[in-house]
Amino acid sequence: MQREFSSLKHRQFDLLICGGGIYGAWTAYDAALRGLQVAIVDQGDWASGTSSASSKLIHGGLRYLETLDFKLVKKALAERELLLAIAPHRVWPLRFGVPVYKDSRIGCLQLKIGLMLYDFLGRNQHISQRHHYFKRQQFTQQFPSLNRSNLTAGFTYVDAQTDDARLVLELIDGALSAGAVCLNYCEISRYLENNAQVCGAEVIDLVSNESLDVYAKQIVNTTGRWMTELKEVNPWCRLSKGVHLVLPKVLNDGALLLTAKTDGRVFFIIPWYGLTLIGTTDTNYSGNLDQLNVEQDEINYLLNEANHCLHDVNWKQDDILGQFAGLRVLQQSGKSSPSTISRDWELKTLQNGLHISLGGKITSAREDAADIVDRVMKRLGINQNCKTQDRSFPWKPPESYSLWHKANMDKAVNLGIDSESAQWLLRRHGNRVAQIFRLIENQPDLVQRITTATPFILADLVFCAQQEMVVHLEDLLRRRIPLLILTNMNSLKLRNLAEIAGNVLGWDETRINTEINLCTRTWLRP
Ligand SMILES: Cc1cc2nc3c(=O)[nH]c(=O)nc-3n(C[C@H](O)[C@H](O)[C@H](O)COP(=O)(O)OP(=O)(O)OC[C@H]3O[C@@H](n4cnc5c(N)ncnc54)[C@H](O)[C@@H]3O)c2cc1C
Repeated sequence: MQREFSSLKHRQFDLLICGGGIYGAWTAYDAALRGLQVAIVDQGDWASGTSSASSKLIHGGLRYLETLDFKLVKKALAERELLLAIAPHRVWPLRFGVPVYKDSRIGCLQLKIGLMLYDFLGRNQHISQRHHYFKRQQFTQQFPSLNRSNLTAGFTYVDAQTDDARLVLELIDGALSAGAVCLNYCEISRYLENNAQVCGAEVIDLVSNESLDVYAKQIVNTTGRWMTELKEVNPWCRLSKGVHLVLPKVLNDGALLLTAKTDGRVFFIIPWYGLTLIGTTDTNYSGNLDQLNVEQDEINYLLNEANHCLHDVNWKQDDILGQFAGLRVLQQSGKSSPSTISRDWELKTLQNGLHISLGGKITSAREDAADIVDRVMKRLGINQNCKTQDRSFPWKPPESYSLWHKANMDKAVNLGIDSESAQWLLRRHGNRVAQIFRLIENQPDLVQRITTATPFILADLVFCAQQEMVVHLEDLLRRRIPLLILTNMNSLKLRNLAEIAGNVLGWDETRINTEINLCTRTWLRP
């Protein structure tokens, strides 16, 4: 994946997409596969907005049944099934436990009905996928870390999980392979109009500071929270902030769906890359769009709730390994609590022809993007159906996934990669893992883990730096490999990693120091 600003020059595109989060990535991939001349730009890195700050779940959203959002749940469950089939390396099943306590807001009967409906809407055919009821003792055997006092019973059900930033990156790579021009660190500073219709945009390359007028027949804005800067769009939406904390491993394989003691909201405790993700908060937001801070009251809320739900755990601030915040775009509504507002997505087209993607979910972004491209195709007068339905993901191995998985796990272990690291390596890179194996064959010490507590190996770091359009150190350490949110990074380790990256990317000492400073400012604790 190479970055070439000049590829925007001297041509007119059918479609220009502003914003490389999940919505922009799916739109670019689908449109390029349908044969359009596509360009997509992001002012930051791929997925540097909300699409790397989600709960990493590919799910129907059990809790939306409470607000009777059946249509949304059904659509998301269908997408979950599709993604599990077309991207088995990128999206994998995750079993959830839901405990029921004597004083639970939602009792056994209500939960049972909800889970039956969830199975029905998801057309769960296999018994292993359907929900199960467990008596207290059986349930605690499965989730030994759970607080047992007043526990009466529990249920399990199956949803799915991903690495959100890598999902976006893989789609961008797919779009590139299908002929799209894809550029990170390129900002659209203004739209150009001809006869009151958008016909292009001024694009600034934030690496070279060069600016260029890029012309396109259709333009889509998938800028997530930044779309609220457009005065025409602002009245339609509001923002809600969600915070996650990363803590040491506490669960084995399953996740927990829990109800917060303080306000009755649903929150998750989820295993991710061998550690624990806790989230999320859900509060109205009207602050700075470019700088999202995790506030002390948000930390307290999540730590208190987790400590209350878990047995033998008393996490304190110092136990936190990482934290991140994201902003949802929600449609404007009279409701005061963001948690009760629908997560459904909408496509609006302004009078000047600019298409705006509003709200949505990572889970259902593929289908929503297909609607965006349908509208674009209609305006272009071209009849061509969606190409992403049923199409294998760009890095999916061509053969049977289970056979491929077994063969490559064996190969990885033979090369000296520990089995947990190997498992994640296959998920992270799909069929491109063969290139990482070759790196290790040439340089065997690259099998070592980067840090003992996370499953990433040095060969992964070198490969990402070489191949995955890394511009800044933060791209590499936050999104290609999420070390900055999974480890309590210190400055010595950061320098060590910056030097490895600098070696691959040809950075001199001054550049290495600049990159370290950029990362330190945002991610290292004083
Ligand atoms: C806390 C939280 C948890 C969530 N959990 C889940 C979950 O588990 N599962 C799920 O399905 N969904 C989840 N969601 C929802 C999901 O994350 C979002 O719907 C999705 O990421 C939005 O993607 P997007 O592409 O619209 O926006 P973004 O990901 O924010 O992308 C917008 C991009 O536009 C770029 N941009 C902005 N302005 C410009 C410009 N002028 N020029 C060029 N580029 C520009 C930005 O840099 C950014 O990369 C969650 C959301 C939140 C907040």
